[in-house]
Amino acid sequence: MPSLEQLLEQVRSHREGMVEALSDLIRIPAIGPENGGTGEIERARYLRDILEHSKFDDVEMYDAIDERVRLRFRPNIVAHRRGKVEKTVWIVAHMDTVPPGDLNAWDTPPFSPRLVDGKLYGLGSEDNGQALVAALFAAEALMNQDVEFERGLGVVLVADEEAGNEKGIQFLLREGVFKQGDIIFVPDHGTPRGDEVEIAEKHILWLKFTVSGKQVHASRPDLGINAMRMGSEFIVFLQDFLQRKYCELDELFTPDRSTFEPTKRLQTVGNVNTIPGEDIFFFDCRILPRYDMDTVISDITAVAGIFEQKTGTQIKVEPVQMTKSGPPSDLEGEGMKALLYAVQRVRGVEPKPVGIGGGTCANFFRLAGMDAYVWQTIDERCHQPNEYCVVDNLVADAQVFASVLADLCCGGQFKD
Ligand SMILES: [Zn+2]
Repeated sequence: MPSLEQLLEQVRSHREGMVEALSDLIRIPAIGPENGGTGEIERARYLRDILEHSKFDDVEMYDAIDERVRLRFRPNIVAHRRGKVEKTVWIVAHMDTVPPGDLNAWDTPPFSPRLVDGKLYGLGSEDNGQALVAALFAAEALMNQDVEFERGLGVVLVADEEAGNEKGIQFLLREGVFKQGDIIFVPDHGTPRGDEVEIAEKHILWLKFTVSGKQVHASRPDLGINAMRMGSEFIVFLQDFLQRKYCELDELFTPDRSTFEPTKRLQTVGNVNTIPGEDIFFFDCRILPRYDMDTVISDITAVAGIFEQKTGTQIKVEPVQMTKSGPPSDLEGEGMKALLYAVQRVRGVEPKPVGIGGGTCANFFRLAGMDAYVWQTIDERCHQPNEYCVVDNLVADAQVFASVLADLCCGGQFKD
């Protein structure tokens, strides 16, 4: 009977290999077309090559058509090791990165990996390269053991995570890759101590408001309708109204309430002595999942209607992004239990469940009725210049995944 300690030791012994694989990834740009990139194809080829020499039974490519990139598709890779039952435990990581931003802000070039004091620097090292490499090495270590797979084991490498998921995880869900009862891990959010498991996300609602009044000379405001003043009153009133009406608290989340924030505002008139006839601004709303997003939208439209009548303006409300959140993943589920045990054993911390206002691939699984858990250990350098991955975290996260997979796929076959 193999022991869990041996499995963890085997993962640890691949430290150099993990650093090498992550360094290779950093050298291959994988930026989506929204950000001026050519997509993930070269990175996917590199990864497919590794996977085809691994112990997975099937390595399938799912190409999502995308006219915006040269080869007209975005690659997704699904590697699967069959189990005795139809159910599978999946780890999902994304291949794409955001662009490096201002190159002058980087101490070393973003596509040249550099290892300094146990940190591997490079674009995408932490987001999401660390998780990707950790998942591959964890799966390979487990498949090298002399054990039987009860549940299947899958590693999914997706495209298009940084700009909407349409050509990535949403495409795979539509293709029917996943089944009810599958357990999913999405290591794409975490803390420096690895002490949080994200099990829920807020609804995300971005709205654009266009307030139309009447433009006149600033010396005769009596003849016009100042759209900026009306817009400003509307902003303050609307936020106050929403905050009062949707006031329930949920300690799972930080902050523990729904938020309704005015963020971006376009320039009104270019000169001081004109009363602006139009005011355009945006709200970013993060709403607790217990509320229905459609009700919030109809409330906002109603408030806008009342304002129109009172002020003689016209207020157009348009959604820019509407991502509904699925129900929180099961705290008592097998996936959660296996993860808590593994994190405690490898890292010596007891993670607590949390909800976040941001969005990950996990939400799409929850919407489809599956439990998805988001966990990893990161210094939270994502989307910043000089992004790095702590190599100790890379190795320990791989050990946690190996333990979770051993538990869920080959339960009872390891000596503790
Ligand atoms: Zn990410």
